[in-house]
Amino acid sequence: MRKVMNNRNMNWMILALLAVTMTAVAQQSASAPQNPQPVAATQPDQTAAQPSQTQSGQAQANLAPPTTMDQVVDRVIVQEKELIKFLSPHTPIVETYLQNLTQDPQLGPIPQDDHYFLGRMDLSQSIDRSDFLKGKDDGMEKHLLGEFTKKFKFQYQPLGFSWMIFADRNDFDRQHYNFHYVRREFLGDVRCLVFDLTPTKDAGRGRFLGRIWVEDQNFNIVRLNGTYAHPSRNSYYFHMDSWRLNLVPGYWVPSYIYSEEGDFTAGAKNKIAFKAQTRMWGYNLKTATPNDELTNIRVDSVKDSTPTAQDATPLAAEREWQQQAEDNVVERLERAGLLAPAGDVDKILQTVVNNLEITNNIDLPRPVRTRVLTTSPLETFSVGNTIVVSRGLIDVLPDEGSLAMVLSHELAHIVLGHNLGSQYAFNDRMLFSDEATYQNLGFKHIPEEETAADKKAIEMLKASPYAQKLDSAGLFIKALQARAPQLSALLQAHLGNNITENGMVTRMAALATSAPALDWNKLDQIAALPLGARVKLNPWDDKVEIVKAQPVAITSARDKMPFEVTPFYPRLSRFSTASASAITTTAALPTAATTADASPTPTN
Ligand SMILES: [Zn+2]
Repeated sequence: MRKVMNNRNMNWMILALLAVTMTAVAQQSASAPQNPQPVAATQPDQTAAQPSQTQSGQAQANLAPPTTMDQVVDRVIVQEKELIKFLSPHTPIVETYLQNLTQDPQLGPIPQDDHYFLGRMDLSQSIDRSDFLKGKDDGMEKHLLGEFTKKFKFQYQPLGFSWMIFADRNDFDRQHYNFHYVRREFLGDVRCLVFDLTPTKDAGRGRFLGRIWVEDQNFNIVRLNGTYAHPSRNSYYFHMDSWRLNLVPGYWVPSYIYSEEGDFTAGAKNKIAFKAQTRMWGYNLKTATPNDELTNIRVDSVKDSTPTAQDATPLAAEREWQQQAEDNVVERLERAGLLAPAGDVDKILQTVVNNLEITNNIDLPRPVRTRVLTTSPLETFSVGNTIVVSRGLIDVLPDEGSLAMVLSHELAHIVLGHNLGSQYAFNDRMLFSDEATYQNLGFKHIPEEETAADKKAIEMLKASPYAQKLDSAGLFIKALQARAPQLSALLQAHLGNNITENGMVTRMAALATSAPALDWNKLDQIAALPLGARVKLNPWDDKVEIVKAQPVAITSARDKMPFEVTPFYPRLSRFSTASASAITTTAALPTAATTADASPTPTN
């Protein structure tokens, strides 16, 4: 047994020794006090039975360090119940994007078709959900499984979504589970105890079966990997790899879930195979309360402090009106969790926009702003002078030239005066439920405006510093064209215009004609990146930042994975002032050597 000798590791030594002497089995000790009943939101008096808690939920703060593995398991159970209670007032957004796979002789498993789901979870008592995407499908089951529903009756009830984020929302205890200590292991910077969980003999159907990783200071679960045991006949549970991030003191918040099913090996034909990424965010979205409204009244709303307060000319009034519409939409989307707060990624986008503006002598009465849509489908739109690009689209762009291509189209709409949208200056039009956002807001242009914007965009690009970098933009379009027929869900825009029509790329398609030939087997030709390659989204506060990861060398065409989903491997770290580094996704950036210099960093 190798041990690092330092005081802080004393607990570890004890645990490690115990693990050896106990043959690693944490038995169901009759003497171990069972936990209080699952803490339901409706039973506030139960909290008295819990260990005393701090505001930040660190129930462990007042407990002695566990000295036996049995005590560790007790703490894990307490902490999990504490998390369930802590999250119960929250209604995070949950997005699942699924690709069904088919076997390509050279590229391995590639997407065959795809499904998209966006909803909101209510974690209060029974874990409910509501859909953003109405009228398109019959809900989550179909979105997830498509034609598979014929084969497998997908069993959500009574578990709802709980399987995705909790091991067992109602019965996570020793009556229902055996905890078997495996070893200790680091996940990122966080030292963990690893346990295998098996349902007890009479635990019933649909119990978690798999492995959990528990951080070794407060004994919170940070990762769950497994499935549910004993499905009833003709039903089926997905396998899942579920990650949590320490985004608030004392709590590890469910953030990413990767699911994968099926046989991807060559020769395994006609078998079900899919990969899916589920992301959660918007945990801390402000729900408007009377108190919030009051604190939002700020002194700077009294703007008439200019020495000579003037009446607005009709033109000034018109511009003010447009600004109001733009601000209303930006604020509303942010409140719905669909727009990230202004941040560093915007600065990168802004720099590219500025480069286009300066070299084209574009001088607009109001500045152009950029923002990031928090969702995966590849789309852009603009409202007033604000350009919005989706997280998923930024993810898959190979370089700055292709980013300039994306932004130039929306800048062209602004320059050409296409963006009116003044109806949103009326505030009643902002009064709808978050889930109804897609029914109440829309920024689609007519085809004539799309054509005109493309033409203007290409003019601007050719006069810009990106004129020499349009090959990669054209290659991106070619790669998108190659995959478009299989990625209709990823290419379904929800607020702006579609980039493709009937499986054909229409947006900026002219750039493809001058681009080099697309060659998947050419290892140094990176036409498009996997999802998750660029942007990381903080599930708690919705802030976005650019992924910082060491490039991983591409060794075969299969490593490119353009537009594809991959497993999550966030680098875990404990909450700190530099908590931003807690969500560095490393393995989500499988692209190569090219990645380092392909980053869409500003050229200066
Ligand atoms: Zn457009």
